[in-house]
Amino acid sequence: MKTILVTGGAGFVGSHLCRKLLSMGEKVICVDNLFTCTGENISDLKKNENFSFIKHDITEPLDVDEKIDQIYNFACPASPPFYQENPVWTFKTSVFGILNMLELAKKNGARILQASTSEVYGDPLEHPQKETYLGNVNCDGIRACYDEGKRSAETLMFDYYRMYKTDIRIIRIFNTYGPGMNPIDGRVVSNFVLQAMKNEDITVYGDGSQTRSFCYVSDLVEGIVKMMNQDFIGPVNLGNPGEFTILELAKKAIEFTGSTSKIINMELPADDPKLRKPDITVAKEKLSWEPIIDLDTGLKETIKYFKDTI
Ligand code: NAD
Ligand code: UDP
Repeated sequence: MKTILVTGGAGFVGSHLCRKLLSMGEKVICVDNLFTCTGENISDLKKNENFSFIKHDITEPLDVDEKIDQIYNFACPASPPFYQENPVWTFKTSVFGILNMLELAKKNGARILQASTSEVYGDPLEHPQKETYLGNVNCDGIRACYDEGKRSAETLMFDYYRMYKTDIRIIRIFNTYGPGMNPIDGRVVSNFVLQAMKNEDITVYGDGSQTRSFCYVSDLVEGIVKMMNQDFIGPVNLGNPGEFTILELAKKAIEFTGSTSKIINMELPADDPKLRKPDITVAKEKLSWEPIIDLDTGLKETIKYFKDTI
């Protein structure tokens, strides 16, 4: 049995990851400050003797009594409204947070995996995006606290690897959705599904021609665990290459909920990436991983989840 620390473990992806690791027979220490979640996603896990929870902000150093074998660093607000609420703290979460976790990994001789993001490619000029693409981020813009924070975290991961031989893994996650999303998170899937369920206007920002590629959370978690437990250090894109316009997503949300909602257009936020689609050749070759849940199937599961919980 390995002892595994998961930061951000009470959040959307982190809670699915904690559940998966427990099902594999591992011992899980979940570290979270509950900034973008209620704690509801892990309430049932607290009964599991192999699960423990530490309320902690990773911008502060962390020490634990037990020997840690692996660290998954997932703590960071991920939705634009949350990460733009306090951009300085968001940046600190990525930079001070990864420094604190790298120090913990160094002290324990632990392997550490960083949850990086497709946002390191910014508003991409290459499509689809390969890991070799160096990106197009506006370092002065409102998304930069997140994008540049995540880019800096990757830099620190590689510097620890080169200086101290720290055992690192880096994944770049593309838009992921599914059960367990915070209903007030503000990202597009939860917004559209909840608006459609309540027959409220569907808020498409801009003309809705911008694209995203949506990965169902169980597919993502399979890829995350595979990445941690093999030799390739990355970075590797993890996402579903199925690409949709935001307008197409709005129409699906209306159709699958049987809603009477109307689509309205609102102002497009600054620096909103126009196109996004992962090239997952590396994940296929190195991890034998590719997603299996298509958007229609995953969206119906997500709608079911929100209907059952709201
Ligand atoms: P989420 O907001 O649901 O989860 C993030 C968790 O981190 C929350 O539980 C929050 O309370 C916690 N957290 C935030 N700042 C913290 C801090 N300073 N100290 C301790 N805990 C803190 O978001 P998510 O979608 O589950 O994303 C998880 C990770 O995956 C993030 O690092 C995010 O950047 C990355 N990611 C997610 C996606 C996606 O589409 N879901 C895409 C790219 C990258
Ligand atoms: N979006 C939208 N309406 C919403 C929320 C988001 O049209 O209510 C758009 C947003 O402008 C972006 C896309 O949907 O083009 C994905 O937004 P999200 O915040 O989910 O993620 P990100 O932009 O970080 O990929």
